[in-house]
Amino acid sequence: MSTSHYDTRVIHGGLEPDPLTGAILTPIHQSTTFVQDAVGSDRGYTYTRAGNPTVAALERNLGAVEATLPAVAFSTGMSALTALFLAVLQQGDHVVVSDVVYGGTVRALRQVLQPFGVTASFIDTADLEAVRAAITPDTRLILIETPANPTLKLTDIRAVADIAKAASILLAVDNTFLTPVLQQPFDLGADIVAYSTTKYIEGHNATVGGALLTRDEFLRERFAFIQKAIGVPQSPFESWLTLRGIKTLPLRIERHAANALEVATWLESHPGISHVLYPGLPSFPQYELACRQQRSGGGIIAFELAGGTTAALDFVQKIKLARLAENLGAVESLVTHPASMTHADVPRDQRERTGITDGLIRLSVGLESPVDLIADLDQAFGARSFTFNA
Ligand code: PLP
Repeated sequence: MSTSHYDTRVIHGGLEPDPLTGAILTPIHQSTTFVQDAVGSDRGYTYTRAGNPTVAALERNLGAVEATLPAVAFSTGMSALTALFLAVLQQGDHVVVSDVVYGGTVRALRQVLQPFGVTASFIDTADLEAVRAAITPDTRLILIETPANPTLKLTDIRAVADIAKAASILLAVDNTFLTPVLQQPFDLGADIVAYSTTKYIEGHNATVGGALLTRDEFLRERFAFIQKAIGVPQSPFESWLTLRGIKTLPLRIERHAANALEVATWLESHPGISHVLYPGLPSFPQYELACRQQRSGGGIIAFELAGGTTAALDFVQKIKLARLAENLGAVESLVTHPASMTHADVPRDQRERTGITDGLIRLSVGLESPVDLIADLDQAFGARSFTFNA
């Protein structure tokens, strides 16, 4: 079913009631193998690593939501990104990557791909001259994350897409932080969109998962081939949970963003805070780009405390309602200390150059009442947290 409204597409896109039973939800086809009628005659499925009806339903749904070919769904966001690298890169190839990206992406490129002869330049993709200068004759892919994890730095997708097209290089956008509801990279010229569905798409802290989307048949075939060849498809049960989660994605992410704006506005006025980074605040350095490229600021806030690292560590110990944990984009609010958690494997010089300081805190604003969240933050700052430097 095709409709222009995300609210409808997330619920019905690519899905029909089960033809056998009429079940309105796609059944969980929890089966390793599928019986064949005769040699060379199957009913579309043979073995779950190569294809499964529940996983295929998720892939059709994600594709319908984004108006692309069916997605290719992976066991994690990292297996989706690794499959992207394996699908489009060979020994000797070069990738240009945003210098602020999820730490796992840096780890995969530096510690897994580099020994096989794939090189990566981590550059400030917000600086278009730096993007142009980083391209070499071996560059095959530009990968940007916008807003970037964890500082929320933005990259102008349309401008980088123009550079990539002029140089015949593929542009992939990790759109995990905003999802298609708040940002549509394909409309801005991206060739590939990557997701950790673990975050907002499933949204309930219940799964890990990933997806790659494209409108190019050849690329989609390559992604599906790598999914099968290295054996990293999403599982039927996780696909079912993700299909259930995505039905409320527009409702959830809009509320996440509204709550985050309220919390970020409060944080900005708090004397215990040295600065707040949130794309929905007029004080955000790239606010104009955020307004042009995104439908709202999203649900993630980054901030530093006036008392520096000591105060930050003290704060994450005291927080109660928002829990100290890795992950983001789920109904529960979570705080993360990126330098020691999600970005611990990013070399210190890259962390320091890009603002991932030891005092930076990332807050994934959940769906609790912002009044309760603000009360929790307030008690965690306490008077103590900003007296350390006195
Ligand atoms: N991309 C982004 C922007 C992320 O934040 C993450 C995880 O935090 C990933 C990719 C990797 O996803 P996963 O944890 O599902 O492997």
